[in-house]
Formats: sequence, structure tokens, C-alpha cells
Amino acid sequence: MGVTDATGTGGPPEAPEAMEALRATGAVIRDAAPGDAVAGVAPRWVASPRDTGEVAALMRVSAARDLAVVPAGDRTKLDWGNPPERCDLLLDTRGLTFGDGLVVEHSAGDLVARVSAGLALGTLNSMLAGSRQELALDGVPRAGTVGGTVGGTLATATAGPRRFRYGTARDLLIGVTVVLADGTVARSGGAVVKNVAGYDLGKLFTGSYGTLGVITEATFRLHPVPADRRWAGVDLPAPRTGGTPGGQAYRPGGLPPGSDGFGRLDSLVTALASAQAEPSAIEIDWPGPRHDLTVAVLVEGVSAGARAEALRELMSAYGTAWLRTEAPEWWAAAPGEDTLLELRVPPACTHHALRVIAAYGLPARVRGSAASAVLRMSFPAGMDREAFTGLVTGVRAGLHPFGGGLTVLAAPPGLADGVDRWGPSSAQPLMRRIKERFDPGRRMSPGRFVGGI
Ligand SMILES: Cc1cc2nc3c(=O)[nH]c(=O)nc-3n(C[C@H](O)[C@H](O)[C@H](O)COP(=O)(O)OP(=O)(O)OC[C@H]3O[C@@H](n4cnc5c(N)ncnc54)[C@H](O)[C@@H]3O)c2cc1C
Repeated sequence: MGVTDATGTGGPPEAPEAMEALRATGAVIRDAAPGDAVAGVAPRWVASPRDTGEVAALMRVSAARDLAVVPAGDRTKLDWGNPPERCDLLLDTRGLTFGDGLVVEHSAGDLVARVSAGLALGTLNSMLAGSRQELALDGVPRAGTVGGTVGGTLATATAGPRRFRYGTARDLLIGVTVVLADGTVARSGGAVVKNVAGYDLGKLFTGSYGTLGVITEATFRLHPVPADRRWAGVDLPAPRTGGTPGGQAYRPGGLPPGSDGFGRLDSLVTALASAQAEPSAIEIDWPGPRHDLTVAVLVEGVSAGARAEALRELMSAYGTAWLRTEAPEWWAAAPGEDTLLELRVPPACTHHALRVIAAYGLPARVRGSAASAVLRMSFPAGMDREAFTGLVTGVRAGLHPFGGGLTVLAAPPGLADGVDRWGPSSAQPLMRRIKERFDPGRRMSPGRFVGGI
């Protein structure tokens, strides 16, 4: 059978033989189509394995033929991180099962579920709903998708509003099964594999962006579905004056007075976080320089209504506060998709981060967790490359005194050229050693991660 590579050049002469070897693993293999590109990089084939054994067989064939492999889930965030340096095989995890074709093994009495990495979060939670239990993460559906798979959620280490109360996917993860670059199957907490002994695989693979191996199964701690939910919020006036393009308006030492919304944010978030009403999430939404800043909290569980009312009252000292039974329309959604940046600062420094951004006067939309201080920022289409580079460099410098950082998660082609998407990290030498240990041939999503790992 003929093989046409995605560039239309026919591919190297060994391609038909490689495809046969991939097929012999039992996995379904097809030629890649243009829509299979990973951040603009076209794979040659797409493999759809059914279980961990087939993934291991695919990885052994790939190792023998020096094929670069990129795992993919629902592809909602496949464009995040650096484009891969090369990609021969896209490994589609969505058909993965275990045991006798199971995708979930639910121990309701123990509040634990073992789950296939290719299962969509939304599907998992509908399956658990019958037992009134859930994996307490907020999946983020994107048009035409099922909202991200378990494997992709772990690999990108993303979390939504409820991270404040329940922690992130990594905190809820009890165990994980992975297939390494050479085809070795390794389980955390289970059978010890010589070359990975001593590593906490769950922690390593969370946020690994497919650069260490393929996650095929995960076991999570579950929570009972809360009896009730309420949202309370308040709009705070943000400074109306734009900053200078270079961002010089903000100086950490000389904080503008606390009369605007940014100034009041810190004390409000501290009061909310320590309130007896115990919110599950404290989120902000700031649509841009000329808009107010909304602070909204989620209260879950018994007497949610009364507890949310207590928080509404607390917030009414800061502005006109409100109470709702439905989430605001922006809740748990990314502020944008094409250009997406993530800022992390220590808790209680959210207002500093907002001031650093405001100093640029650019049409940035900022949204995220105020108490956990993980914010996401997006821009309207057509942003100028020079302005983008200046913003990334300047905001990084502005956050540095607070110990904060900025990552460019996604950017349209060309916009982030010449920008270090991950920024400096003191953990780089350690990360390199781990990569060398797990994937010495640099075949797993090469180049996607921090420092081109
Ligand atoms: C504002 C915001 C809030 C969010 N909140 C949450 C939240 O609360 N909870 C939550 O779970 N998610 C959240 N997400 C993330 C969202 O659910 C993503 O869609 C998901 O993380 C990506 O899954 P995917 O299956 O589409 O992965 P893909 O887009 O297909 O892949 C993403 C990355 O993971 C790698 N990868 C995929 N599968 C595997 C695997 N099996 N093994 C190894 N590497 C793999 C890929 O190579 C790629 O690098 C949030 C995102 C945003 C922007």
C-alpha cells in the first residue's frame, strides 16, 4: 500500500515498511491528513491504539525506527507549547481502554476511579453522576470538542476555578500508567520498573506536554457532587487611564493608591479566602483596560444559598454585589484561544500582576483564579508582533520582583517567533536530566517544553 506523507512529497523510501510495522502492532494506522498537524507540524501517520499493550508495541516500533511521537487527546490544546521539532506519528489516545474494554472502573465506596487517559472529562463526569460523585475539575469544552481528555488535562497541567478548594488534577491523581519512549510500561505506586524507580511518575507526567511518554491510565480521588451551588460577585472599577506602550507606568515600589479596583482586590480576596462561608473558587474577569473588574465566588454544598449571601454582603462593602444560581457566562472558560498567555504569581500578588498588564494599555482580556493567582490573558486577533514581544518581555520583568512568571500557551503562526514561550526556569538543568533519562533519543514531542526539551 502506498504512503503519501503529509507534505505531499511521497515520504522517504522506508515509509511503507514502517507503516507495515506500525500496523503489525494491532493498532489502527492511517495516513495523516492536513487537520492532524501539531502546531503547524504535519505528522506522517496517525495511530489509534486500543490499550496500553498496543501503545507499548507502537513505541517499540517507533524506537526501532527513530520515529518522533506526539500523543494527542481531544486536541483542544494541541497547539499549546512550542511546535514539535519533528512529528512522525500522532498517537490518538481517544480509543484507549483497559481490562475487558473498560474506560472507567469506579469504586464508589472508596471515592476512587481508574480511568482511561483518552476519556473526555465531561463523559467521565456524566458516568459518575449516577453515583452522585465527580472528578472535581472544571473541563473546558471548545467548539466541536468533548472538552479535553484525562491524558491531555494531566499532560498540560491545566486547572479551572475549583482548583482553589479541590486542588489541580495533579493533587487528585492517585496513580498513573504510562508508556515510555522505549515501550516500557510503568505504573506509579505499582510494579517498580528499574529505569524509572524512585520517580513519582504522576508528578513528573503532569505538565509534561507529551515529552516524557504516553499516559494511558490514571486513578483519581473523587468527591461527592455538591448538594447545591451559588455564585456571588461584585464589579470593581479598574483604572481607566491606559499606560505607556513600554509599560513604564507601573513601579513595584511606588504603588498607586488603593482607591481603584486593583487596590481593593487584595484585601477583598484575602477576606473571601478566609471567610467562614468557604468558597470553592474565587475568580476574576477583566475584559480590558476600559472595563470594570469582576470578582466572583462559587459556594458549594449544604446551605450554599445562605453562605453565598454572607459573601455577597462581605463584597457589598466594595461595590454593588450580586447573587446567582447560575455561573457567569465567562466562568471556567479561557479568555481567548488564538493568543493565550498564562501568568503565575504568589497568592496576594494578583493586583500587582494586573497593574503590570494595565501599564501597557493594550486590549488584554484577563481571567483566572484570584486566590491561587493563576491568570490567563488573551488579545483580539491581529496583534502586532513587536507589541507582543515587548509585552511578554516587559510583563515577565514586571512580575520578576514578585517571583511571578509568564508562559505563552498559544499564539497564531508568526506572532511568537523569537519569543521564549516558557521563559527562564531554574529547574531547567533538572528537567533536562529527567528528559535524558526517560527519552534519550528525543523522540517524544521533541522541543515542545521549557528550554526546548
Ligand atoms: C481557562 C481554562 C480552564 C481550564 N480548566 C480546566 C479544568 O478545570 N480542568 C481540566 O481538566 N482542564 C481544564 N482546562 C484544560 C482543558 O480541559 C484542556 O482541554 C485539556 O487539558 C487538554 O486535553 P486534550 O485531550 O484536548 O489534549 P490535547 O490538546 O490533545 O493535548 C494537549 C497536550 O497534552 C499532550 N497529551 C495529550 N494526551 C496525552 C497522553 N495521554 N499522554 C501524554 N501526553 C498527552 C499532547 O501531546 C499535548 O502536548 C482548562 C483550560 C483553560 C484554558
